[in-house]
Amino acid sequence: MDCIFCKIVSGDIPSNKVYEDDKILAFKDINPQAPVHVVIIPKEHILTCANDINEDNSAIVGYIFTKIPEIAKLCGTEDGYRIVNNCGEKGAQTVFHIHFHLLGGAQLSERLN
Ligand code: AMP
Ligand code: ZN
Repeated sequence: MDCIFCKIVSGDIPSNKVYEDDKILAFKDINPQAPVHVVIIPKEHILTCANDINEDNSAIVGYIFTKIPEIAKLCGTEDGYRIVNNCGEKGAQTVFHIHFHLLGGAQLSERLN
């Protein structure tokens, strides 16, 4: 599969990793939209975006969310951050391997778009 994030998981494309375990990987976004901008992905390419989440596959999404506080702390932004999932082309999604943006490191705007 021609997926940038799968290639990051396999090491074929380098990334600046901030957290990794057997199930998930978090790395710095190449085009940061905030002082802290990390992309968090499941290593397995099983979901495209939030539209694909169901009762059978949601464990990995829950697992990511249990790790978000730790990843935020590793990035020094545990005092506040935003989690974003861009879903579909109208949601401005460009990589179709489910991922959550962790944005922080500054006072974020109240605007969400
Ligand atoms: P989205 O628009 O939600 O699909 O987000 C995809 C994100 O992946 C964008 O913020 C890109 O800047 C980021 N991205 C794309 N390629 C890379 C890469 N090789 N390393 C790190 N981040 C990347
Ligand atoms: Zn993938």
